[in-house]
Parts: sequence; C-alpha cells; structure tokens
Amino acid sequence: MNILLVEDEKQLAEALAALLRKENYLVDAVYDGEDGEAYALTGIYDAIVLDVMLPRKNGLEVLKALRRAGCGTPVLLLTAKSEVYDKIEGLDLGADDYLTKPFATGELFARLRAMTRRRNEFTGDSLAFGDISLYLPTQELRRAEHSVALAKKEFLILELLLQNSRQIIPKERFIEKIWGYNTEAEYNAIEVYISFLRRKLSAVGSGVQIRAVRGVGYLLEEAKA
Ligand code: CA
Repeated sequence: MNILLVEDEKQLAEALAALLRKENYLVDAVYDGEDGEAYALTGIYDAIVLDVMLPRKNGLEVLKALRRAGCGTPVLLLTAKSEVYDKIEGLDLGADDYLTKPFATGELFARLRAMTRRRNEFTGDSLAFGDISLYLPTQELRRAEHSVALAKKEFLILELLLQNSRQIIPKERFIEKIWGYNTEAEYNAIEVYISFLRRKLSAVGSGVQIRAVRGVGYLLEEAKA
C-alpha cells in the first residue's frame, strides 16, 4: 500500500510517516500543496493524506485540481478544529473522509484501512481486457479455464496496463509504481518484465498483446482476427 502524505508541519509529517512505515505502508512525504499535487498526479498512490492549510497551494485547491484531472485516488483531509467549512467544502470537492487535528494515530490507521477497503470493493476482485482477466486476490492471470501465477512485479505491470487499457502508459509510470518515486531502476528492467508477461500471455493462449510504442511506453491490444 502506497501512501502520499502532504503535511507542512515537518515534525508531524515525519512522525506519521515513521508510524505508517511501521505498519508496512510505503510512504512519500511532501511539505507543500504544489509538490503534493505533482506527486499525486503520478497515480501511483493508493491513498492520499492531505492537510488543508498548506503553503503554495492549499489542500482544497489541490483536491479540486486532482479530481478535475481525473485522479480518483482516495483522499483523507486533515483539518484544524476551527475549519468547519473546510470539511464541508472538502467533502463536496470529493474528499473521501477527514480527520480533525489533533487525532490519535489509531484513528488515522482505521480511516485509511476503511478508505482503501471501500476502493477495493468498488473495483472488484478482477480486472479484465479482451480474453484475459487478472484475479487480484491470488495475482493470477486467467483466460477461459487456463491460469498462471504472476510474480509480484509482473502483477504490478499488468495491473497498471489493465487499469488504463487502450492508453499508452509511459515507462516512467511503471518504474514509479514498481520501484517507487525516487529510484535508480533502469528502463530496461521494465523491458525484462514485459517480456516475461508476454510469455505468460501466450502460455494461457491469449490474443491480448502488449505493444511497445517506441520511445514512449506500452499499451494493451487485442489481436486482430
Ligand atoms: Ca498545515
């Protein structure tokens, strides 16, 4: 689970990040609204914890920009006690939940779990395209009665392709999703995993292909009969 934390009080941000990492979340912490928006728009996060009072761009403006850009990542707003109207406006703008400062960390974890669980129910157990489906609980690639287990990185790549089928996905997005935002991973590492995935697609007899778009990225295609 990948969490983006946008909070300008650095001590609070660092303390929350440390607690979340202890719970096995992957956390990126940024300290102003503009960075928050740029990181969130990468689409690699499963949830965003967004403070309202932020320098450079406030949390409500960030939220508005994200939803307008089609970014549906669940957002938990952090508000101060006096900011009653911010809560209402935030929920209207598409926040999924809010917490009033100061809060107990147990409360934050509970809200995050509920938010990401709702999202999984909403998206269901599998993603499908053409003749294949990806069964999320067991990370299996399925076609008709055939199935094959995917390794973790193969699963993450296919999941991203299926969530954005018929779109070209830049190589950077795969790298961010699999290795995180600050990584030294090379583009050819992606090519290796794409080739593994192609082998598994043909192993289940699928007509779905992963097409490379030179210099840009990859997209899923159904083979033409
Ligand atoms: Ca603040």
